[in-house]
Amino acid sequence: MEAGTDKKNLLGMTLEELQDVAAELSMPKFAAGQIAQWLYKGRVADIGSMTNLSRQNRERLSSCCSVGRKAPVGEVRSKDGTAKYLFDVSGKKMVESVYIPDNDRGSERATLCVSSQAGCKMGCRFCMTGRQGFHGNLTANEIINQIFSVPESERLTNIVYMGMGEPTDNLDEVLKTIRIMTEKWGLAWSPKRITVSTIGNVNGLERLLNDTHVHIAISVHTPFHDERKELMPVEAAFPIQKVMDLLRGYDFAHQRRLSVEYIMWKGLNDDNNHADALVRLLKGTSARVNLIRFHAIPGADLRTSDERRMTEFRDYLNSKGVLCTIRRSRGEDIMAACGMLAGKDLK
Ligand code: SF4
Repeated sequence: MEAGTDKKNLLGMTLEELQDVAAELSMPKFAAGQIAQWLYKGRVADIGSMTNLSRQNRERLSSCCSVGRKAPVGEVRSKDGTAKYLFDVSGKKMVESVYIPDNDRGSERATLCVSSQAGCKMGCRFCMTGRQGFHGNLTANEIINQIFSVPESERLTNIVYMGMGEPTDNLDEVLKTIRIMTEKWGLAWSPKRITVSTIGNVNGLERLLNDTHVHIAISVHTPFHDERKELMPVEAAFPIQKVMDLLRGYDFAHQRRLSVEYIMWKGLNDDNNHADALVRLLKGTSARVNLIRFHAIPGADLRTSDERRMTEFRDYLNSKGVLCTIRRSRGEDIMAACGMLAGKDLK
């Protein structure tokens, strides 16, 4: 719904949903395809711009619907080009999207990291978003609007569902937005340009694997059950061993990629004992490991590993046949940790 009205938002609807709207308004069935074209290829911001619909049909559509584009309400820009945008999702507080340009590997990439929930229920100890509690699922409109409404929208080459919230905890809406990104009537992107990051809710993950061909990133952070349970309460319900057992049943060597996110904490998970257990955990998965520097958050007694230890850990994993890289930190000067900006605004 458009805020303050009872109008439905068209942006975020699938072709089938647009067909339902067209049928309710006694518009011809092909009008749904035209509307999808205007929304997702034409990127129009208002119904009046859908000029191949008859005037009468535009008026009918406007009486109950609007496009549903909403600009960010705040932004901070890093000196390295990274930008954080703040979106007001009505009644559910603020969510963040992060734009990350990257052109130092020969090819120009422009990635947007989107949020799927306002806050999060998962309570990971190291996460600022988790601290804020859960304020609601984003609708497909609110997720896809982030992609359409950042100033760099038409330049984007990749989308990562790695912002606020756990995507598998709002999977219906997330799947709808993946369809909009990849179907011919939508943006027609290759699923190889999309990555969904999850902490590993096995049920949701299985559906994501079966219903899409997007890349998967799993937040592991430690290979040990008891330690992970302390850091990530989800481990009690869905042990990482079971998550990896599920992933071993899928092909990540060809069309899609599996990556493992591993935040490095000094003296906690950065020794070779952890590296060896990680190698065992990942056996048979073709996963690559991304080592991530920890951005301190207020009140957390966790510290990031030093550079030398990270390099040694990376080299050790590589020597054991596990492809591992250290993720370059971006936007350090604009509070890079997820949830920081929204949390600041809430204060
Ligand atoms: S790390 Fe992800 S799943 Fe965990 S609390 Fe933060 S947003 Fe939620």
